[in-house]
Amino acid sequence: MPKLVTLTNDFHNSSVQLRLPVLQHIYGQCTIYPSKSQIARAKRVLCGTPGCTCSNDVGTRGKQTVNGLPLVVDVSSLIKS
Ligand SMILES: [Zn+2]
Repeated sequence: MPKLVTLTNDFHNSSVQLRLPVLQHIYGQCTIYPSKSQIARAKRVLCGTPGCTCSNDVGTRGKQTVNGLPLVVDVSSLIKS
């Protein structure tokens, strides 16, 4: 079931919400699999600065959590054709 997940960037003090399933297949940790377009939107909102090196493909920076658990953002949708 999709949940509202907030991703943050502690360099720009920005945040973005994505609605997507949160998987907990590893104990004590959550994983999300955002689509290409969700990753693009997150990057644009979290760090829209061209050439900025603050963050990764998703634009997150700093510790990401969901319900107090560490959150892993899987970006494999970027490399799938
Ligand atoms: Zn940035």
